[in-house]
Order: sequence, then structure tokens, then C-alpha cells
Amino acid sequence: MPPLKNDCFALPPGVHWTPVDQALVDLRTRLSCVVDAETAPVSDALDRVLATDITAPRAHPPLPNTAVDGYGFLNGRGEGDHHIPLVAQHMPAGATPDTSVPAGTAIRILTGAALPPGVDTVILQEDVEVKDNAIHFTGPIKQGANTRKAGEDVKVGDAIAQAGRKLTPADLALLSAVGVSEVTARRPLRVGILSTGDELVQPGADAGPGQIYDANRPMLMGLISRLGHEAVDLGHVRDDRDVLRTRLDHAAGQVDVIFTSGGASAGDADHVSALLNEAGAMALWRIAIKPGRPLALGMWQGKPVFGLPGNPVAAMVCTLVFGAPALAMLAGADWSGPQGFMVPAAFSKTKKAGRREFLRARIRGGRVEVFASEGSGRISGLSWAEGLVELPDEAMTVASGDLVRFIPWSGFGA
Ligand code: AMP
Ligand code: MG
Repeated sequence: MPPLKNDCFALPPGVHWTPVDQALVDLRTRLSCVVDAETAPVSDALDRVLATDITAPRAHPPLPNTAVDGYGFLNGRGEGDHHIPLVAQHMPAGATPDTSVPAGTAIRILTGAALPPGVDTVILQEDVEVKDNAIHFTGPIKQGANTRKAGEDVKVGDAIAQAGRKLTPADLALLSAVGVSEVTARRPLRVGILSTGDELVQPGADAGPGQIYDANRPMLMGLISRLGHEAVDLGHVRDDRDVLRTRLDHAAGQVDVIFTSGGASAGDADHVSALLNEAGAMALWRIAIKPGRPLALGMWQGKPVFGLPGNPVAAMVCTLVFGAPALAMLAGADWSGPQGFMVPAAFSKTKKAGRREFLRARIRGGRVEVFASEGSGRISGLSWAEGLVELPDEAMTVASGDLVRFIPWSGFGA
């Protein structure tokens, strides 16, 4: 893999507030795949990213077959009563269709069985009476009824999956159905998660009066796994520049990309941004987004670092909006914009122009409601929500019943 450039996060001078869409274009154009390809069995390939295009080595279905349990014969029949003598053989699913069925006779055939020569039409068993070794039914029945053509689903050589696709359960079915048992996939992207801050204590420990529990790390670990990457717990560091430097050095040898939370602004205790600055490869992305704080993006020993805001709400929103598509690029996957849909609002709100806003939201009774408080420290609202409402950069007044864009967590891939 060609390495990322050290200045891949550089911003043009004089830029103050970058619109969300511009920030996304910048990430999309500057980031590229950083993981090698390897062979993986299809059975183990769920959520893996394809490194090559795949064409079908076999048709599906491979031969014409029957879609129902019934009786097969040649040609359709018109109106009226029909009597067709049965041959002695049966065609169960999986049998080889080698003996031909003589004209004017019918064969017992079960769902999925290939049509033997001399059969192109199947009548449903419920529609016939079997008596004296013959079937009796009332027409009409069309030629080809209840059968599937060879290759009607997939033909040999059809393009069935493209490089960059993250394999779904249905993809595994399709690959298997056409006889693909192995794929060339990207090695999973290893994403390290590091919390910073003197105020943080770890769950299970006693917290002093001024301390808070580390909420971001379990949340980010969970988000990264949901996004299909390998989350690596890099622990917590105090606001101590030397300790942080040592931890980043170690992490750079361990993971493909580092997500930190806290310490990413330009204050005295903001050692993440200070260190990235020191490394000479940092840009503080001021993105016109609420909730959000500047995102410190930089390179540490060749590994991209995403310095997320410490506020859990901002950390989660930034991870979903910017982290998810950026990680997809690094993982060799297609760019993945969030998938939302328009839903009538169960709330009213006025917003100013100049930044995009994301509100913690959920759908109840076909309308989207938003969390009562927009405070970015309110973790309870994240847990209450089932997705985000995205309000555009422009000024907007939302009245109850107006359509707004709702993006469920799954629409971000999480
Ligand atoms: P910072 O970005 O370091 O200025 O932190 C902004 C806010 O987020 C502060 O109120 C921090 O205490 C809080 N914060 C930082 N890291 C975490 C964390 N891991 N879990 C919960 N809150 C955090
Ligand atoms: Mg801090």
C-alpha cells in the first residue's frame, strides 16, 4: 500500500470554518486504503472488504429446475380435462437429469430438481389428482409454468461483487450459490482507541469528587466494532505530554489508525493537538457542525490520528459523520455517505445559517422526536436516541409535521 502523505490533513491557509460537505470531500480525496489483501474463506468473510471484483464461475440456477413439488411434462395444455400417464422414475432435488421423459408422459418432480430432458412445464401437486398411474387435471397451464430457467438469476461471468464492497450476509449467500468459496479481502483495519484527561477514572475504580468516569472509550470501542473494524483498546493517559508521546509511539506500531478523545483543542492541557503539532503534521479542522469542536487531524509515525473532542456527544457525532467514512476509505471500502430518510417532525425548532446541526432523535408513531436538551455533555440523550436528525447548513425553521432528515445509527453503518 502506498503510505499516506504526512500532509494529508493540511488545510488551505486562511480557512476558518469548513462546511461539513467540504470536510467530507477532503477526507475522501486524501485518504486511501492502508491495509493489505489476503485470502479468506467466504464463511469467514462477513463485513470484510473485497479487494478484487468477483465474477460468477457458475450460473444460478445451473440448470433449469422446478420451483414447486409437482409433475413435469413437455408443453402447456389448453382448457379442459387432461390425463397424462406417469413414468416410473422420480426427480428429487439433487438428482442428475439423465433419462429423458417420453412425449405424452409426466414425471413426479420435487422442488429444486433439475428438469429432465422432455420436461419444460410443471404442474403443482395440489392441482392434480393421481389415479391409475396418471395425473388428471383441468387446464389451462402455460408452457414453462412453475419452472426456473438456467442462469435466470446469475449467468456465468456476471459481475456479482465489486472491489470495495463490504460483504453482507446476502453477499455470502450469492457468492456461495455460484460456487465461490474464497475471496481476496482486505485485512481488517485496526483502530486504536485512547482516552485522555486528568479528570478521567476507569470503571470499577473509586472516583474523587472532581473526577468522572471514562465514557468515551467503551462507546468508541463499540462504534468501531459496529463499523466493522478491529477496535484496539489503547487505554487512558493523563494530561502528561511525555506519557502521551510514549503511548502514541507504542500505538503507532500496533494499529493502523488512532482515535483519541479529549485534549484536541488548543488549550494548555490539550496535549493531543500539541504533540501532533510538534510532529509537524497536524491540522485543526474547524468544521461548521454542531455538536462538535475542532477535530485535530494529524499523522503520528505514518499513522493517521483523529483527535476527537472529549464531549461524548461531540465525540460520537464526529465519529459517525467523519470517522465512519474516513475509516471506510482506510479499510479499502467504498466511500459511505450516511443513509437517511425524510420523516415528519414531532418537534419545532429554529436554527441559524452557517453550520450543520445534528440532533439526537428517534422515531415514535411515524414521527421523529428529538431529545429535550441539546447539551453536548448529555450522555443520557445519546442512549435515548436511535439516530440523528440532520438539519442543513442553511437557516431553517422546522414546524411540527415538516419533513426532516433522520439517519438511524445503522444509516451510519454503526
Ligand atoms: P476536552 O476535549 O479534553 O476539553 O474535554 C471536553 C469535555 O469532555 C470535558 O468536560 C471532559 O471532562 C469531557 N471528557 C473528556 N474525555 C471524556 C471521556 N473519555 N469520557 C467522558 N467525558 C470526557
Ligand atoms: Mg481534556
